[in-house]
Amino acid sequence: MSAEPKDVWVYLQHTKSGLTSDSYEVLAAGRKVADKLGQKVVAILIGLEVGSMAKEAVAYGSDEVLYVDDPAYETYFNLRYIDAISAMVAERRPYAFLFVANELGKDLAARIAFRAGTGLATDNVQLEVEDYTNPVLGSFKDLLIQVRPDFGTRLARIYTPRHRPQMATIRAGNFAPLRPDQKRRGKMERFVPPVKEYPAKVKEVVELPPPEVDLRGADVVISLGLGVLKDGSGRPRDPREAYQYALKLKDAVEKRHHLKVEVGATRALIYAEVKELEGLIDKANQVGQTGTTVNPQLYFAVGISGALQHRVGMRGSQKIVAINTDPSAPIFKIAHYPIVGDLYEELPKLIELIGGGVTA
Ligand SMILES: Cc1cc2nc3c(=O)[nH]c(=O)nc-3n(C[C@H](O)[C@H](O)[C@H](O)COP(=O)(O)OP(=O)(O)OC[C@H]3O[C@@H](n4cnc5c(N)ncnc54)[C@H](O)[C@@H]3O)c2cc1C
Repeated sequence: MSAEPKDVWVYLQHTKSGLTSDSYEVLAAGRKVADKLGQKVVAILIGLEVGSMAKEAVAYGSDEVLYVDDPAYETYFNLRYIDAISAMVAERRPYAFLFVANELGKDLAARIAFRAGTGLATDNVQLEVEDYTNPVLGSFKDLLIQVRPDFGTRLARIYTPRHRPQMATIRAGNFAPLRPDQKRRGKMERFVPPVKEYPAKVKEVVELPPPEVDLRGADVVISLGLGVLKDGSGRPRDPREAYQYALKLKDAVEKRHHLKVEVGATRALIYAEVKELEGLIDKANQVGQTGTTVNPQLYFAVGISGALQHRVGMRGSQKIVAINTDPSAPIFKIAHYPIVGDLYEELPKLIELIGGGVTA
């Protein structure tokens, strides 16, 4: 067992076709933290025939890959995986351990943290490294600071100084993958987990169909907020009209610029369960802290105030167009192209500008 905890571990997820896109992000997050700590990034890879993915992990930023390559690990079975990873943690004692904050990452990270007797900060949108002094606990050098949206309107900085590894899940969409460097060389080490019998078996794995709304894969996102319910003078409007405008704008951008466009929404609009929008907008369209994080080339925030929980899901957009009747709406603080006005007047103008000809 090593004396002091060291290295930043990142857990890599994969499918039959290779590492998932989130895995490149967790590698980038790990690299950022490890460089600040002056430590190594160790990628944890578990499955069958993981060799090519291990090389990929090195190209994308890891210094070492600690892997399990065994038919028993071909399909995900959480108890087996948790035993294997917990054995790795107990033997090697990492300093920090990062996972992607999706279903699989959360399933693993929480249980591994429990086994390791450490904490877990979930859904981080930033990671920092700083010295930290607490009047009761004392001073700590090079602490991983986990930054995540609070329940209110703030970003919380989480300090977990006493236990190692410091564990965190990161929200996909917040850490840009590194440019691959195929010349990088890394150490590959096979780990043989303890053999154990389990009372349950995985009989079949059923792949879910791909999501109908692919917000993360979109070049342009047009998001609608509660503003669609009224016009600029406060008179109720049928929100289907705004939705149709969004579709026309989508069509115009796709045809004219050959970009992939998706329609997004705020949580407030989805939770409002507006009858007219039934079947048109649902949870799959939600952008934000509890929805999808997007980083498109262009983001349209239409009738959206720009609450923190929405902003954390779209602030990485390269350009932001915001349409809002209220000039003091927080969305204007981050908008590159602010349009103060009624969305029912401004959207047709934009469609005309981009694609020409509009009928709602
Ligand atoms: C734990 C937690 C998690 C959350 N997660 C998310 C999340 O993932 N995503 C998310 O979006 N929210 C989330 N929220 C909710 C968030 O706090 C806000 O309530 C929500 O984003 C507001 O949505 P909105 O901008 O559509 O509505 P509002 O804040 O009501 O804003 C509507 C805006 O429309 C403007 N407007 C009105 N009429 C017009 C018009 N005709 N033309 C132009 N503008 C007009 C108004 O000026 C106003 O600024 C979360 C909240 C909590 C507590």
